[in-house]
Amino acid sequence: MRYGELNPPNRILLGPGPSNVHPIVLRAMSSPLVGHLDPYFMGLMDEVMELLREVFMTKNKVCFPISGTGMAGMEAAIVNLVQPGDEVIIGSNGFFGQRMAEIVRRCQGKPIEIFEEWGRAIDPEKVEEALSSSNANLVCIVHAETSTGVLQPLDGIARAARAHDALLLVDAVTSLSGCELRVDDMGIDVCYSGSQKCLNCPPGLAPITFNERAMERVRNRRTKVQSWYLDVSLIEQYWSEGRAYHHTAPISMIYALREALRIVVEEGLEARWARHKRNRDALIRGIQEMGLEMFPPRDRCPTMNAISVPEGVEDAIVRRFLLDRFNIEVGGGLGPLKGKIWRVGLMGINSSEQNVILFLGALERALKTAGFRVKGSGARAAIEAYGEWG
Ligand SMILES: *Cc1c(COP(=O)(O)O)cnc(C)c1O
Repeated sequence: MRYGELNPPNRILLGPGPSNVHPIVLRAMSSPLVGHLDPYFMGLMDEVMELLREVFMTKNKVCFPISGTGMAGMEAAIVNLVQPGDEVIIGSNGFFGQRMAEIVRRCQGKPIEIFEEWGRAIDPEKVEEALSSSNANLVCIVHAETSTGVLQPLDGIARAARAHDALLLVDAVTSLSGCELRVDDMGIDVCYSGSQKCLNCPPGLAPITFNERAMERVRNRRTKVQSWYLDVSLIEQYWSEGRAYHHTAPISMIYALREALRIVVEEGLEARWARHKRNRDALIRGIQEMGLEMFPPRDRCPTMNAISVPEGVEDAIVRRFLLDRFNIEVGGGLGPLKGKIWRVGLMGINSSEQNVILFLGALERALKTAGFRVKGSGARAAIEAYGEWG
């Protein structure tokens, strides 16, 4: 035998994604395959759409998973709405905002980027100004900026977009089911996510939804959508009554998503949002007790926690220690934040008291080994916080 049997390590995935897959989801993926036009599968597609509407909190007809990762969701959202020459306002305060601008350029659109320091939210007044001084009819914004740990408040931006009759497109890859997100009530026209963050599926599907206003824009395009595979009108035909063949749905991933969504709905969105906040609050207590600082001064995202690497500590050594000794994966910084922050994801099932206390204890151990003088015990502070909260 040239190769041994596949045997990956069983990690605790507290990075920026993927998160650990729920055991029920993993089991669903090993269920027997059916054909993608099998009556059983058609019923499943209806269930997935219904569950997705519940989780996105929308009544939109167009609401299904794109076959592809979160980036396919981003690309699908943008290619369907942007035509050559279109001006598009983009919030750029992190890695994913930059990518949105790049996709707009590739559609021959003109991105109008609103730059903000990484670690800060976009100011809605700047969006308002950009809308007033341009012909932009689309605003793209990242809800949870995974590269910085910022949760973008959406109210003011949604109001500005509405006032100028522009569409609002929101990246909810790291927020869906972990942070408060109400697509219809918050005035979001197009929203996409990914399967491997707070939904605890493997990577491979990008739930997406377009409201009627957005679909009208798609239907009235002068030019064809530049991507055939991501043309939402074609994919919609597969996901509606006629089930017109477009591509073979990734059956096992749809099983996975169906179970993942069922688990989310069973817990309840509000309970889930509260759980993510509570564990985030305990984590912050512990981090501050140790004499460390959270990277974003405010607007901190409960699912993605960015911690500043203290002076004199080598980022990569600490992460390697966590992986080797504790089996814990955390993320490092991207771009300008390389070596400056740790990114600790507490997503879906990974947002737990167990993980928070374990991570804080492991980090303390790693920091002491790295020669950093830890102020107080973070794990103890978290335990006390949980005790106070009951
Ligand atoms: C992870 C992520 C993406 C990209 O998703 P992939 O599954 O890696 O393609 C896009 N936007 C945000 C905010 C993300 O966190």
